[in-house]
Amino acid sequence: MAHKAGFVNIIGNPNVGKSTLMNQLTGEKLSIITSKAQTTRHRIMGIVSGEDFQIVYSDTPGILEPKYKLQESMLNFVDLALTDADIILFVSTPNDSKRINIDYAEKIKKLNLPVIVILNKIDTVKQEEVIQLLELWQKIYPKAKIVPISALHKFNIPKVLDLILQDLPESPAYFEKDKLTDKPMRFFVSEIIREKIFLHFRQEIPYSTQVEVESYKAYPQITKIRATIYVERETQKPIIIGNKGLSIKRIGTEARRDIERFIGAKVYLELFVKVDKDWRNNTSKLKRFGYE
Ligand code: GDP
Ligand code: MG
Repeated sequence: MAHKAGFVNIIGNPNVGKSTLMNQLTGEKLSIITSKAQTTRHRIMGIVSGEDFQIVYSDTPGILEPKYKLQESMLNFVDLALTDADIILFVSTPNDSKRINIDYAEKIKKLNLPVIVILNKIDTVKQEEVIQLLELWQKIYPKAKIVPISALHKFNIPKVLDLILQDLPESPAYFEKDKLTDKPMRFFVSEIIREKIFLHFRQEIPYSTQVEVESYKAYPQITKIRATIYVERETQKPIIIGNKGLSIKRIGTEARRDIERFIGAKVYLELFVKVDKDWRNNTSKLKRFGYE
């Protein structure tokens, strides 16, 4: 089967659950999340790769706030945001369906791209209302696929993936596919932590330590990061931790601030210290730490 790849832009009014959906779609496989302070079209990007496909999701938060005065410039911004889309995920909700912006829908239709209308938060209404809303959206987007979901309750998420894969164009992958696709961000995070260790410790400690980011999860409100500092000897562990944990606390606080500045989001950083006697000489471990 030919390889498929493409850019899938998630758009819709604020608060309809775009970010929640994006987190569900990327899940554990989320390999790249970038979040910058300024709102750009790729404010949050998440890549999901399979053997024969790669989906590059973009979240475009809040650009459709229906304030009439700003509408013109917002629509221009949306055009810009959609220039690299292969598929549009248009997210709405039962409540949001009460204020459909027809001009905007016409604008999207003119792009001639596959549109998947996501009716999210169906957990908030009765079945009959869902059916009516699906009909309503089908009238507005006659060519679109319409799928009812609950991003919060993980209902029908695989269906969304199915529909995306159907419309994804044939193309080689845009980004590296292996697990290390997420390397740039994680790597940067581990470098920031390592920098603090270099700043606060002397002699052999900095050279004996390695940092591995074990978990990196970007939620709408906060990015949660769990990292482990590896040292080579048992005697080094209490030094990193410090009296009453003060040293590691200081590393954590300073690193968290820098990471927050770098990714433009609030960060919850958890740090652990472990002894790994031979990480510097073990090929597979070095590889895991990104030294190839
Ligand atoms: P965004 O502004 O479009 O990115 O929306 P968010 O993903 O930040 O979600 C806005 C709010 O809607 C959050 O409080 C979510 O927990 C909530 N939400 C998202 N999806 C669902 C859903 O399927 N059902 C319900 N009841 N709430 C949801
Ligand atoms: Mg959002």
